Amino acid sequence: MSKPTRRQMLGTLGTLATVGGWISLEDDALGLVPTTDRDAPPEYSLPPLPYAADALEPHIDKETMQLHHGKHHAAYVKGLNDAITGLAAARGSDKPEDLARVRGLTDALAFNGSGHVLHVIFWNNMKKGGGGEPGGALARQISRDFGNFAAFMSHFNEAATKVQGSGWGILAWEPLAERLIVLAPEKHQNMTMFGCVPLLALDVWEHAYYLRYQNRRADYVQAFGKVINWDDVAQRLERAIKLTM
Ligand code: MN
Repeated sequence: MSKPTRRQMLGTLGTLATVGGWISLEDDALGLVPTTDRDAPPEYSLPPLPYAADALEPHIDKETMQLHHGKHHAAYVKGLNDAITGLAAARGSDKPEDLARVRGLTDALAFNGSGHVLHVIFWNNMKKGGGGEPGGALARQISRDFGNFAAFMSHFNEAATKVQGSGWGILAWEPLAERLIVLAPEKHQNMTMFGCVPLLALDVWEHAYYLRYQNRRADYVQAFGKVINWDDVAQRLERAIKLTM
């Protein structure tokens, strides 16, 4: 299976590319391709997996990948489009009860939009034969901001393993201080820091590991380390550094 094209990636993510932040459709800082029709808001779609569903075996099993991508991620895409459509209808109505839906739809927008963005990054953060350590600018940045690679991995894995309930372990670029930080958002959208650009995202919702790892989340977190595509993370850092607050 081929990697999604830049057009597929960009068309699906539009302006929701940062965690709580905002970038214009002209900005391809996260590799997002704008739609050709600038007058029409983009629709979100489910990009194909950038590899076969069994490519990450034995670390991430085929059945989990198929369910996770084809059912869970697809549901976030649908929820995101539904929220946007619903908001357009609500704000255009002259009935107070329609406008009152904005609160709930904004919840749905944040939940499904963040879920969509993070899953796209998560799939691309992994590859068959991944793992090891990064090199180049990413390695230097990790050493500067976390001390060394081993210290970073213990911080990242601990944060991901101890997320209460459902959530993510995330390595992000924080553009205000121009440094890397680790976040551990609950669900997809709570406990984030605005403006940060996710570079490496580890899904620790139970749907991401329960078929193979059951309650052993820490084992799953360790397995993720063996499939990380550090080249993808390094490219995301390079693009994120070009963003300014
Ligand atoms: Mn997930």
